[in-house]
Amino acid sequence: MNVERVAELIRELLVEIGEDPDREGLLKTPLRVARAYDYLTSGYKTDPREVINQALFESSVNNMIIARDIEVYSLCEHHMLPFYGRAHIGYIAREKVLGVSKLARLVDVHSRRLQIQERLTAGIAEEIMDAAGARGVGVVMECRHMCMMMRGVQKQNSVMQTSTVLGSFHDDQATREEFLKIIDRRVDW
Ligand code: ZN
Repeated sequence: MNVERVAELIRELLVEIGEDPDREGLLKTPLRVARAYDYLTSGYKTDPREVINQALFESSVNNMIIARDIEVYSLCEHHMLPFYGRAHIGYIAREKVLGVSKLARLVDVHSRRLQIQERLTAGIAEEIMDAAGARGVGVVMECRHMCMMMRGVQKQNSVMQTSTVLGSFHDDQATREEFLKIIDRRVDW
């Protein structure tokens, strides 16, 4: 991303919303905003497959591996406003397991782009399924969307839940139920 160019655009945006970009409090704002966007969209510069490939190791375990409450911060592609919440990931490995920290890293790489929650959820699940060759994967995500809370319908307390189940999580009801039972909890954040 060309940070200088984006800073110029933000300066123009400030003028258009009726602000004075030359007043003291706003002098450094365009550059700050540009740097923030550079970070918040840094997922475009990272290949999620590389994140996974660096962290795969051989294992003979075939039980369910679950990472719960992974923090999610993303931007909705409709309004470029934040949505945030938690992701819960479960998978059953075949021969390779993923380092635990890499699941969180994978969520970050997919989140730091313009997203819709459904695609974010599915993208993470498919990545784990394909790259790790898992038997099955389940991803459940619960997020609050600023575009709903601050504008539009102003539903401050609504949480959107999305899920993707692949492989044995899709085909085998017992597996799916085990996953959902383990991650089940009320939203308390
Ligand atoms: Zn939105």
